[in-house]
Order: sequence, then C-alpha cells, then structure tokens
Amino acid sequence: MTVKAQKFASLLEQVCTRNIGPAAAAVDANGEFPYRSIDALKTAGLMGAVSAREAGGLGLGFGAAAAIVRRVAQECGSTAMVLCMHYCGAAVLEAYAPLQVRHEAAAGDHLSTLAFSEEGSRSHFWAPASTAQAAGAEVILNARKSWITSASAASAYVWSSKPLSAAGLSTLWLVPARAPGIEIVGRFDGLGLRGNDSSPVAARDVRIPAAAMLGEDGKGFEIMMGTVLPMFNLLSAACAVGLMEAAVGRTAEHAARVRHGDTGAALADLPTIRNYIARMRVKADMARTLLEDTAAALEGVREDSMLRVLECKAAAGEAADEVLGLAMRVCGGAAFRGEVGVERYFRDARAASVMAPTTDVLYDFIGKAVCGMEVF
Ligand SMILES: Cc1cc2nc3c(=O)[nH]c(=O)nc-3n(C[C@H](O)[C@H](O)[C@H](O)COP(=O)(O)OP(=O)(O)OC[C@H]3O[C@@H](n4cnc5c(N)ncnc54)[C@H](O)[C@@H]3O)c2cc1C
Repeated sequence: MTVKAQKFASLLEQVCTRNIGPAAAAVDANGEFPYRSIDALKTAGLMGAVSAREAGGLGLGFGAAAAIVRRVAQECGSTAMVLCMHYCGAAVLEAYAPLQVRHEAAAGDHLSTLAFSEEGSRSHFWAPASTAQAAGAEVILNARKSWITSASAASAYVWSSKPLSAAGLSTLWLVPARAPGIEIVGRFDGLGLRGNDSSPVAARDVRIPAAAMLGEDGKGFEIMMGTVLPMFNLLSAACAVGLMEAAVGRTAEHAARVRHGDTGAALADLPTIRNYIARMRVKADMARTLLEDTAAALEGVREDSMLRVLECKAAAGEAADEVLGLAMRVCGGAAFRGEVGVERYFRDARAASVMAPTTDVLYDFIGKAVCGMEVF
C-alpha cells in the first residue's frame, strides 16, 4: 500500500468507527439522512475519491472507491449508498461539467446523485419519458422522477430526459436541486437504506441554462452505459459485500456467545449453525472476489471488463439476499426482535437486487453477452 493510500485508509477507519458506526442505528430507526456521517467523510477528503487531482480530488481508481464504499457499508448501508451515488454523479461531472463544479464535488461542497428512474420507465432507466424543451438560452424540464437518493440533501441532480432535438434515447443535465419548479414529493420511508432519502421528485417547467447539458444532446445512453454503469454496478456490489461482511461477523459473534441452558452448548457448537455460517462466509467471499476482479478488469481496461461489471452487481445482489437470510435464520428470534443488529443489514441488503439495473435485467444482459447477442 502506498503512503497516500495508507493515510486515507486510516482516515476512513477513524470516520467509520467514530462517526458512521455510532450514528447508523438512529439513521435507520428514524429514517434520517446521515448528514453527520457525510460531513465526516467530507472533512476526511473522501468525498473526492473518484475526482481528479486537478479538480482537488484524490484521483483514486475503481478499486479504492469500491474499498471505501464497502468499508462504509459495514457500518451503515444508508451512508454507503449516498456515497455510492455521489461517486457516480461525480464521475459524470468529471467528464462533462465545468472545473468549478468538479472542484465543489471533489471537496464535498456539492453532493451529487443520479436522477434517472421515472414513474413511466420504472427500472428501465435508459429510456426516460421526461422531456426537455428549448427556450432560447434556456431549457424547460418536465419530469416525474420516481427515486432520487439524497433527494433533499443533494446540491444538484445528474438528470436524464428525452433528447432536445437529436436522435437517441436520452440527454443528461445538471439540475440544481433547489431550482424553482422542483418538488420533492413526500418523505422516503423504505424497508431498508432508510436514511437514503430516495424520494420521488417532480419537475414542473423547471428552467435551466442550455449550457447545463452534460455531454451531447441524444448521447445520454452512451454516458449511462460508459461512465455510470461501471461505477454504479461496482459500488452497488461493494455496498452489498460490506453488508454481508458485517453480517457474517455479527452472526459468528452471536453464535459463539449465546448458549442453551439445558445443554450448556453454544449455538456455534451445533454443526447446522456452523454450516450456515460457513455458507455465509463462502458466498460473501465469492462476491468480494468478483468485486475485486471487476475493479482490476476496469483499471486494466481488460476485454472482459463489461461482462464483469454486469456480473458483479448480479452476483452481489443474489449473495446478499442469501447471506442475510441465513444471518436471520442463525440468529433466530433474537435477530427477529432486532437484538443482534443483523436485521438492519437484512433490510438494507434487499435493495441490491431491485436497484436498476435490477438482477433480472442483468441476467438478461449477461445471457445476451454469453450467447453472442447484442447486449444493449
Ligand atoms: C434504496 C433505493 C435507492 C434508489 N436510488 C435511486 C437513485 O438515486 N436514482 C435513480 O435514478 N433511481 C434510484 N432508485 C431506483 C431504482 O434504480 C429502480 O429504478 C427502482 O428500484 C425500480 O423499481 P420498480 O419496482 O419500479 O421497477 P420495475 O421496472 O417495476 O421492476 C419490477 C420487477 O420487474 C423486473 N423487471 C423489470 N424490467 C425487466 C426486464 N426488462 N427484464 C426482466 N425483468 C424485469 C425487475 O427486475 C423487478 O423485479 C433507487 C431504488 C432504491 C430501492
């Protein structure tokens, strides 16, 4: 590990143990946005992990970003997903936004996120139904976005619409979260990732400068697949792996600690229980290994990198459902009553397979790739 990497690993460890971990239970119980945890990450300079050094960021690669999200998820899934979405938005800003915005995102003064999912297109984020209409030097946006992580805390959204006039499926925009006509429609009250603030957002005749276009008109799909998908799939998988790892640790600790009064044996003395814990560990390690190989494939620009990008999120989503289901079974009634702490991870982990691209859609894409068919 380089000296720079060591410094940030130790800062991350401090933030996780002093700030993010202690706040996690209340974030979940109250469904409150993890402002303090994000502030601590900002103070440590970690909001700029994927931003280039010329913009004041750390210029870290895919592997380091995944390691950060994975470590944060071990403490708090909500904070990890807010960070994941910020890194995804920042990757788009790095490629297409002015230097000033890139500086703000790297410093954490600008919290970024993605506004792709819509009431009409649901999880088919690549085909927005929302519109953009030219009005002189401005553009008028109308949309019914269905989910935006950090909806009320974000500074601006990386936003998709139908193209203005070019051919193509979509165009991307940088839309200030407090622009007149933006309305956050209700408070997020989800099963898991409860501090995520993933509320629906409506846009009614929102005016933004035409210069707020990110990339070219009609090229949103290419940016979604080329820039966002690799980062999002990798970091969503990292989040799921972190949740699994935390659950394996808590489950093993519980199984070693609690005893049956009649036999005097610990739960872990039962072969069935050890078998379940072994399966949890194997699945979590398989998902982590694929995650690390995906980061290596992306950094090495390997030929199989897109296949790995598709695989790592599907594998981590499936594994997370299985591993957290086993954690609930091993920890039994104590877990059901929320006494072991694995039930929060169980709920948080459910998001991995329904966040777009969903596991079902990923299997369809992977099947097409393996059968030599066109994927997108
Ligand atoms: C915690 C959380 C945070 C989120 N944050 C964001 C965000 O910041 N930005 C954003 O843009 N979106 C966000 N989303 C939205 C997410 O990416 C999906 O768009 C949303 O979860 C889709 O839900 P849906 O049930 O409406 O999808 P639907 O499309 O109705 O899917 C329902 C089911 O049908 C299956 N299905 C759908 N299409 C296909 C297909 N073509 N082939 C096979 N099966 C299919 C799906 O796999 C799923 O099981 C977030 C979601 C969650 C849960």
